[in-house]
Amino acid sequence: MLGAVVMGIGTAGFVRIRDMLAPLPSSPAEKLSVKGFISRRPLEEQQGVSQISLEEALSRKDIQVAFVCTENACHEDNIRTFLQAGKHVCVEYPMTMTHKAAVELQDLAQQKGVVLHEEHIELLTADFKQLKKDITGKKLEEGSLHFTGGPLKPGFGLLAFSGIARLTWLVDLFGELSVTMATVEEQTDKNYTKMTAHLLTSDNRPLTWVEERGPGLPRVKNVNFRFDTCQVTELPPAPREPVGIFMQDMVLFAGKLLGQVPPEQLEAETRRVLHCLELADRIHELSRG
Ligand code: NAD
Repeated sequence: MLGAVVMGIGTAGFVRIRDMLAPLPSSPAEKLSVKGFISRRPLEEQQGVSQISLEEALSRKDIQVAFVCTENACHEDNIRTFLQAGKHVCVEYPMTMTHKAAVELQDLAQQKGVVLHEEHIELLTADFKQLKKDITGKKLEEGSLHFTGGPLKPGFGLLAFSGIARLTWLVDLFGELSVTMATVEEQTDKNYTKMTAHLLTSDNRPLTWVEERGPGLPRVKNVNFRFDTCQVTELPPAPREPVGIFMQDMVLFAGKLLGQVPPEQLEAETRRVLHCLELADRIHELSRG
């Protein structure tokens, strides 16, 4: 068994504890055992699990794994602290707020011989899997992905990073991308921001990614992908899968811990994670300039 600690008791942290207490039967997730949680606030037991200090989690030999479920802005420091103590880390996306920091952390994980996994539940949803199947073999002419949602909570940072899930969709569907232009529109008094990034596929097909956040905006993804043979203007309906998306991610992470994930898959995943963070960096840089 691998003992685990959960840092950050928000929506994601709650789900991580829940899933470790009732792992998918006969899956690698059964090998994880939750030993405690870390919070900046003194809290009562959560789902029967006790609060422990960061120092205790770092020093305990029976804790080999950390789930970092805090706000985006503190991921980098928290991951580094756990990696330096030789713990495996699963971090909720985005791993960091710069590409450089993610490269350093990946190197540190390698030096320490531990796993650094970035959760990407958006790739595990039934509608995304169906969309990917539907477009296999089709040639993209042009496309757009427009996300809207409520204002970002404090500590969740820049749109290009907080929205990395949308960028990851585009990269997973259409391969590595480049950024040609990016803009950000902000109305601070209205708590409204809109980022528009113009991207190109490796065969020069244009893709537009928009992240728009403001009070009252519904949490929705609008897609419009034009292919040589058809056009996709909405996400395909797909029945909910019996295994939840956070649990699917935990199974993948635990599979990595047990050495069950093929090296080619690990390499492809690391390349994708770093590529998306590099794009986010570039989008941020261009939108400021
Ligand atoms: P949240 O605001 O509900 O929870 C964050 C929690 O972390 C808060 O309770 C905060 O007090 C705590 N925290 C922050 N810094 C801490 C520290 N140093 N020590 C201990 N606790 C600390 O946010 P959330 O929705 O759970 O999101 C957390 C992370 O998960 C984010 O990176 C987000 O991008 C990612 N994520 C969330 C979801 C989701 O469905 N909620 C999905 C995918 C990824």
